[in-house]
Amino acid sequence: MRHIAIIGSGPAGYYTAEAAQKQWGDDVRVDIFDMLPVPYGLIRTGVAPDHQSIKGVARRYEATALSENVRFVGNVMVGKDVTVEELQGLYDAVVLATGAPHDRKMDLPGENLPNVYGSAAFVGWYNGHPMFANLDPDLSGDTAVVIGMGNVALDVTRILSKTREEFAGSDIVAHALDVLDTSKLRRIVILGRRGPHQIMMTPKELGELSHLSRAAPRVDPQDLPEVGEDALLEPGLRKSVNHLRSFAAIPASHYGDVPIEIEFDFYASPKAILGDGKVTGVEVERTTVEAGRAVGTGETYVIPAGLVVCCIGYQTSRIPGVPFDDRAGRFPNDEGRILPGLYCVGWARRGPSGTIGTNRPDGFSVIEKIAEDIGAGAGKQGRPGFDALAQARGLDVVTFRDWKKIEAEEEARAREGAPREKFVRVEEMIAARGS
Ligand SMILES: Cc1cc2nc3c(=O)[nH]c(=O)nc-3n(C[C@H](O)[C@H](O)[C@H](O)COP(=O)(O)OP(=O)(O)OC[C@H]3O[C@@H](n4cnc5c(N)ncnc54)[C@H](O)[C@@H]3O)c2cc1C
Repeated sequence: MRHIAIIGSGPAGYYTAEAAQKQWGDDVRVDIFDMLPVPYGLIRTGVAPDHQSIKGVARRYEATALSENVRFVGNVMVGKDVTVEELQGLYDAVVLATGAPHDRKMDLPGENLPNVYGSAAFVGWYNGHPMFANLDPDLSGDTAVVIGMGNVALDVTRILSKTREEFAGSDIVAHALDVLDTSKLRRIVILGRRGPHQIMMTPKELGELSHLSRAAPRVDPQDLPEVGEDALLEPGLRKSVNHLRSFAAIPASHYGDVPIEIEFDFYASPKAILGDGKVTGVEVERTTVEAGRAVGTGETYVIPAGLVVCCIGYQTSRIPGVPFDDRAGRFPNDEGRILPGLYCVGWARRGPSGTIGTNRPDGFSVIEKIAEDIGAGAGKQGRPGFDALAQARGLDVVTFRDWKKIEAEEEARAREGAPREKFVRVEEMIAARGS
């Protein structure tokens, strides 16, 4: 019998469990740990609340979770409640699938001013992550600056633009909906250091900006390269650039009809967040792109703004006793191997890149490596060993059955038309599982 501990119940964790089942069938026991009492990582707390069809992938993980040899061990933080070393003593392989939950710092003056947020915090707030439930952003200013040209920047912009009615059918949490209702925003500036050909935004997400009831996207036609140059782009990017071209063709008169303008500011590198006690603006330097890189021109200007959200990437959390690559912001590894018996997968292995599906081959690949390394298993204790340790330590473990009770409570208290109203505090989640 092989015993595998997977740390993190996001896509990478569940795909790795699925791969372990395919590899060994009944001859493996998998425990999936999560620091939260609820599973699925960024499927619950990252993927946008108005993209429910994408969140539906969790049903696939549930099939894995409900099988006899896979167990969810929620409400246990590895590195705090139990160490990696202890788990290595109990399991043949420990796989870190802990994601990349921290915002990459911009290292700009003023970055820590109130009402300046990283996307992990801001997205966590509207998606009900317990760590960010108290964020309470102030939306009373008329301008927000969203820094970054990827899909997370689009998610944040779209969420800031939508009306309450447009959130029908979503699982945006009530505290966020209430604050968004008070929004006085009239302008959202999406800031990118490079040009339209260097965006990381995908066509579907970009196209959604054309269908907002109270907001319209604006692109300066002068920022767009010659049409002929689009032919060199890969097809997805070409489609995205086509959307930008259609935004640039929106007649000026249309903007008078919608309260919020979403303005793409290309070739614009943030230099400082301005403010005194509260953010008042962003100082920006104009750039040009040379050989794909942004180069400052020395010309600067200020965008007055009352809210700034930085969507420039994420890094993995350190775990005591595990080597960490500071520059890359993740665990150093050779195809998933960190140290003997210790592996990583998903965003903890690769950094924040790719789609949900990219984590699947990653999970299968790490199980191949583990199969090469552990053979038939070393006769470790696995589950019973962890259960004894949890009991001795008084850990309040949340099981998958508990999660199903929490989920049922969340569904029962949903506002009309919504799939669920999430609990946003750990204590509420624990209470909802009942006795
Ligand atoms: C805002 C946002 C929107 C996105 N939208 C999409 C989308 O629409 N479509 C798409 O394809 N992809 C999307 N993605 C990407 C997708 O979410 C990731 O590819 C995927 O979630 C990465 O999976 P993971 O398992 O590596 O990490 P995660 O999903 O982050 O899971 C990590 C898990 O580990 C747990 N954990 C962390 N540390 C510990 C610890 N010490 N002890 C115990 N547990 C721990 C966390 O609680 C979490 O549950 C989005 C990402 C973000 C940030």
